[in-house]
Amino acid sequence: MEERGNISIHTENIFPIIKKFLYSDHEIFLRELVSNAVDATQKIKRLSSIGEYKGDLGELKVTVAVDKDAKTITISDNGIGMTAEEIKKYINQIAFSGATEFVERYKETGGEKDQIIGQFGLGFYSAFMVAERVEIVTKSYKEGAEPAHWTCDGSTEFAIAPAHKETRGTNVILNVAADSEEFLEPMRIRTILDKYCKFLPVPVEFEGEIINNPNPIWTKQPSELKDEDYKEFYKELYPMSEPPLFWIHLNVDYPFNLTGILYFPKIKNEFELQRNKIQLYSRQVFITDEVKDVVPEFLMLLHGIIDSPDIPLNVSRSFLQADSSVKKINTYITKKVADKLAEIFRKDRTAFETNWDDISVFVKYGMLSDDKFYEKAKDFVLLQNTAGKYYTLDEYKAQVEANQKDKNEQLVLLYTTDADKQHAYVEAAENRGYDVLKLDTVIDSHFIGMLEQKLEKTTLKRVDAETIDKLIEKDEAKESVLNDTEKEELKKVYEEAINNQHMQVEVAPMSPDDAPLVITLPEFMRRMKDMSRAGGGGMMFMGDMPDTYNVTINANHPLNQHVLKAEEKGKLARQAFDLALLSQNMLSGAALTSFVKRSFDLMTKE
Ligand code: ADP
Repeated sequence: MEERGNISIHTENIFPIIKKFLYSDHEIFLRELVSNAVDATQKIKRLSSIGEYKGDLGELKVTVAVDKDAKTITISDNGIGMTAEEIKKYINQIAFSGATEFVERYKETGGEKDQIIGQFGLGFYSAFMVAERVEIVTKSYKEGAEPAHWTCDGSTEFAIAPAHKETRGTNVILNVAADSEEFLEPMRIRTILDKYCKFLPVPVEFEGEIINNPNPIWTKQPSELKDEDYKEFYKELYPMSEPPLFWIHLNVDYPFNLTGILYFPKIKNEFELQRNKIQLYSRQVFITDEVKDVVPEFLMLLHGIIDSPDIPLNVSRSFLQADSSVKKINTYITKKVADKLAEIFRKDRTAFETNWDDISVFVKYGMLSDDKFYEKAKDFVLLQNTAGKYYTLDEYKAQVEANQKDKNEQLVLLYTTDADKQHAYVEAAENRGYDVLKLDTVIDSHFIGMLEQKLEKTTLKRVDAETIDKLIEKDEAKESVLNDTEKEELKKVYEEAINNQHMQVEVAPMSPDDAPLVITLPEFMRRMKDMSRAGGGGMMFMGDMPDTYNVTINANHPLNQHVLKAEEKGKLARQAFDLALLSQNMLSGAALTSFVKRSFDLMTKE
């Protein structure tokens, strides 16, 4: 006996709306139906464990099958099944009203796809995104239950009739619509299963194979796991990646429920940073790899999995940002990451230093973007000097304090952004017994600014920003071999020889061991230019400004005393200037040619 009926919902024609809105997300029908099937098997397991179900459980499993000729996709399970009454209650009412609610929400958000995180669980109704007709053949676990057959074309009309089914469980049969025949391709189905169902807690079979890992390691206790397990799991997630540096096992159940594993990847270079490598799961069902808001921005560079049923998946983005459990999760993850890094630093400083190049970008990025993280990381963030030795901030301050204080008791930290190109300056500093830091990555320019703000009585100066005596002003007057008239004359000789308004010449007494002249780009000038290049507001004009260099002539260098006495003063001065340019990779083109010519000339004369 067949019963026909009308599904009692108020919104007519929700189906075309859903189909249109969710066009690119049609594939989630499979996630929804397989999740339902998994839920049904877990329910029967629970009933059995509490003695409500006394029959044989059998091997609990979900099977997905495609029949290209019949144009069907079938999702079968041996879960609790449904009676005809339950179909009417759960499918006709709950599933359909869920879909109605979905459409209303969608309309509220103006149909803005971005505003819906991941994909709203449309539930059973999502079957109609790909099927023109959906059938359910099901037999409840309840003793004496009659199997039932339900058919519906997505409109509000359905038919329900007795069916033949020997075994407990449910088959959902999708008669695939003409415009969705892509889903009859086994490869397509396999790809979708791989994306959403890879870690479902019950075996899922497709084409005779179990496609999932029902017991992924994040569901286990950290004490049960070895390093190898974590590494293997990483490989399972990212087969093409190099092994991770280390990982953090997340495991909380109060005040929110969250499990997962975050990996620190090996980063080859900063331009390769990959976002969206963290996958968000809800009870082992893949939701999205857009974890923005849930994971702090600076940790988006990590890889791995976060699984939480407490993250609301069905609300808009702006709501998610304000959601208190999302905020708590975000804070928790930040704290866990900081604690883990602190632990590695404490327990194995050598390993920490070995991996520093790979993790420094997370740490620095984190310190820049999150004050709480800064507070923890300031104890383990490392500075490396040109000799390759690593120091914490405190260690480094203690190391240089005795020697690198200026006349105002300010600590001056010297750094190089390119130890090769700035070699002459680094050497000059080292000859004075100063220490030079290597701060040569893209993030370091921001990091330097932050250190200056946070560290008391400390400034950072790039080693080529001034002559070394000016970088660390100690106010110890140096005696000059030349008198003021001679200095004035020397200045004029150089100015005429250089003949360039962007080269500011000055004569100063330095050590006779220093270079005869030093060309520097003042720190403030370079920083302004860097900022304007980075788009800093209100300084756009700086980018077009030519560099103005300082040329400091060492009054105490024997060469300069010689210049004053020589016949071809100008030629010698120009030669010395060109050599200084050359040592800083600043000599090229016509200037280089004329330098070479002049050199031969001078050599011939001797
Ligand atoms: P939700 O799963 O969010 O409750 P759905 O629309 O997916 O919403 O499903 C509605 C209800 O139909 C489920 O709560 C469940 O009771 C029932 N159901 C769906 N699929 C199955 C199945 N394979 N076996 C047993 N019951 C099912």
